[in-house]
Amino acid sequence: MARVAFIGLGRMGHGMAGRYLEAGFDVAVWNRSRAKAEDLIARGARWAASPEDAAKDADAVVTMVADDEASSRVWLGKGGAAAAMKAGALAIECSTVSHAHARKMAHELNSRGLIYIDCPVTGLPEAAATGKLTLLVGADPADLEKARPYLAPLCTTIRHFGAVGSGTVFKLINNLLGAVQIASLAEGVAIAEQAGLDMKLVAEALATGAVASPQVIRHSKRMVSRDFAGASFTAALRHKDAAYAVALAETLLPGVPVSRAALAAYDKARAHAADGDEGQMIEIVSKPK
Ligand code: NAP
Repeated sequence: MARVAFIGLGRMGHGMAGRYLEAGFDVAVWNRSRAKAEDLIARGARWAASPEDAAKDADAVVTMVADDEASSRVWLGKGGAAAAMKAGALAIECSTVSHAHARKMAHELNSRGLIYIDCPVTGLPEAAATGKLTLLVGADPADLEKARPYLAPLCTTIRHFGAVGSGTVFKLINNLLGAVQIASLAEGVAIAEQAGLDMKLVAEALATGAVASPQVIRHSKRMVSRDFAGASFTAALRHKDAAYAVALAETLLPGVPVSRAALAAYDKARAHAADGDEGQMIEIVSKPK
């Protein structure tokens, strides 16, 4: 039975780890706080005392943690997974990390005889729990072939962008576009409110008109009703992604004023409600100055 170590059982990782159990893998799990693992343990996962313990004998280690700092910790920190991985094992980074971090991790883990692929994802937590994610992969083609059996339980689509790091480049520009759309939507909704428009009609018109991207459809309703229940993506995570995207832009295309404005908007939104829904930035934008 193929063995997977799954590290990071937050909103996304919990469902993804469950997919490996459903697919019949031998699964070891670790999370910084154990409570999130309990039902996975009841379903047959082995609780590991550390990422290192989880990685023992694993054919693939999959991580889904918050950011660069968390990723460094679970791969290379004290009790990190890399210390226990066998030569030739797969290190699959599903977390959204910075491009510089993905490249650095590839270098570090390759030098230990491991195969690192960057594999950030798109899709909400319900897609994670039902194996309907899209995976954005950066990998040598031969490494991707080795990884495919370990990616299949997670996704409906694999998009291979090129060498290691390229999946992360796409993920960061994708989420940067999302940040720009949501930040500008908040301003548009706030202007319509100030102008006294019928906001039910505004929400309906936004969600069905020419600017109706999935982000606009989802967040226009939430912003107009100020109903942010069931946050799936937080202001802190969106800010982190926008910051990583702007850092990448610095190396390729300095300037990017629209992206910087979205980053600044998310800096305020995370100060307002770091763990709240990313759309809560309407609450800042609509406050009288
Ligand atoms: P989340 O619910 O906040 O979970 C974050 C995970 O990271 C938790 O397991 C947390 O452990 C762990 N973690 C945070 N800091 C850590 C540290 N210093 N050391 C060790 N572990 C640490 O976030 P999520 O929504 O699942 O997102 C996970 C990743 O997927 C992020 O990179 C995010 O950008 C990306 N993503 C999210 C979505 C989405 O819709 N939510 C979609 C696509 C991609 P604890 O449980 O102990 O806090």
